[in-house]
Amino acid sequence: MKITEHIYVVGGGKWGFGISHEIDCNVFMIDTGSGLVLIDAGTGLDPERLDANIESHGFSVKDIKAVVLTHYHGDHACGAARLQTLSGCEIYAPELEAQAILTGDEKATSVALAKGGLYPADFVYPKSAHVAEVKDGEMISIGNLVLKAYLCPGHSLQDMVLFAQIDGKNCLFSGDFVFAHGQVLIQCLPDVSLSPYAEAMRRIAKLPIEAIFPGHGVFCLENGVSFVEKAVESFDKGLLPQQLYYFT
Ligand SMILES: [Zn+2]
Repeated sequence: MKITEHIYVVGGGKWGFGISHEIDCNVFMIDTGSGLVLIDAGTGLDPERLDANIESHGFSVKDIKAVVLTHYHGDHACGAARLQTLSGCEIYAPELEAQAILTGDEKATSVALAKGGLYPADFVYPKSAHVAEVKDGEMISIGNLVLKAYLCPGHSLQDMVLFAQIDGKNCLFSGDFVFAHGQVLIQCLPDVSLSPYAEAMRRIAKLPIEAIFPGHGVFCLENGVSFVEKAVESFDKGLLPQQLYYFT
């Protein structure tokens, strides 16, 4: 689906738009004028659905120059290795999570815990040929697109959100860090950390965010910062923000 002139959503399962495998995160595609950038890659299950969505807009998987992963969870990251094989694209990931993605570390990424539950019992976290480690504040430049990375621990070890101006709007690709209406997703996993989560939320609330594109659920094209501020309000009261509706 085309969202703005250069932004598309080409993946998303039952907690999103129902256009690819049911447990895929939202996969956003940006046409940079010199190739495509994908924000997250889905699970890699039923990959022909993702490919068909890309092709339906007149592009090819081979046009992908980069897959930027917001974090290492399987529903966001496991589709990346295949896309790299097909297109030769670079995979970018948060500094401290890149190694687990590179090696397909099912324990570190908590995929091992979810096999036979969220993921099929025979699900395999694929190894990648190369993953570029992204540091806090780093700029990822491809064609006309410049993404500024903010590393935001909390939901996982080091989630990465990406801020960019696209089609005249200040956009935040927020992964599983924050969703519409200020919801978050706090799971009982070893890499969840609440105080760093609150600190990161306060930091991101200072950005002039208009459009926000979360990893699950709806995106919103105006006043996205209000969702971040709503999460901050809860943290400031010593409470947890509302849990992502789809997972309650
Ligand atoms: Zn996640």
